Amino acid sequence: MSSVQELLATAAELPADTAADASLLLAHSLGKDRSWLYAWPEYRLDSAQLECYQSLLQRRLRGEPLAYLTGCKEFWSLQLRVTPDTLIPRPETELLVETALALQVKAAQPQVLDLGTGSGAIALALASERPQWRLTATDASRNALRLAEENAQRHRIDNIRFACSHWFQELEAGMGYHLILSNPPYVAEDDPHLLEDGLPYEPIAALTAGADGLRDLCTIIRSAPGFLQPDGWLLVEHGMDQGARMRQLFNKAGFQRIETRQDLQRRDRITLGCYSR
Ligand code: GLN
Repeated sequence: MSSVQELLATAAELPADTAADASLLLAHSLGKDRSWLYAWPEYRLDSAQLECYQSLLQRRLRGEPLAYLTGCKEFWSLQLRVTPDTLIPRPETELLVETALALQVKAAQPQVLDLGTGSGAIALALASERPQWRLTATDASRNALRLAEENAQRHRIDNIRFACSHWFQELEAGMGYHLILSNPPYVAEDDPHLLEDGLPYEPIAALTAGADGLRDLCTIIRSAPGFLQPDGWLLVEHGMDQGARMRQLFNKAGFQRIETRQDLQRRDRITLGCYSR
């Protein structure tokens, strides 16, 4: 039977990115964290553990994302459970959270809406930082919503209400949100990037939106004014080549103080605007 040390030595010969993932998969197969491996190098895996590790490693080598293999991903320092029903939360989406937290929302209990919450990442990050905010998190997928709710329970976050809705369709217009956020699908259907980086394993409905990737962003930007309080804000994540188009759409929908922000790689990433009637 193989020991932890032997398996780590073999893993070290894999290409650099997979080598690090291999140690995480080994720890995951043993139900431990990575530091445990280094504390117990002589531990010998039983046959079930070895089989589990080897099958996960094979799947990783074939391109399946690590987060789907371990079933978890960290976002805004929250460990979230993820499944192939939802997109894997991306670090660049933390910019949306950061920007929302920096806005001056003048209400004792701001009403905040996260459209297309997926695993719940954005809503959970905001709810954990601002316990006084009242969040509504929606998704068109019931499986995604169940997962988001489970993530809320795991982190004992109770200021989020979950609702099944395709964008605004099932929501009451009179609600008057102070803040609406979304990381909708925005990749063009024929984008060759969809065949790389594990994207073929992620739900296509969470990635693409029509030939130009703008279908859902258009719907959200056009409809948001009917759901915002006076001086409420809309923040959306989008593709790096969609910034100028976003500012046009925000402008056409009547938003002011429109601004596009860039991520750490200096790529256009989010656009926001304030709606005053
Ligand atoms: N940023 C994701 C990517 O890797 C896309 C996420 C989305 O469509 N919302 O392409």
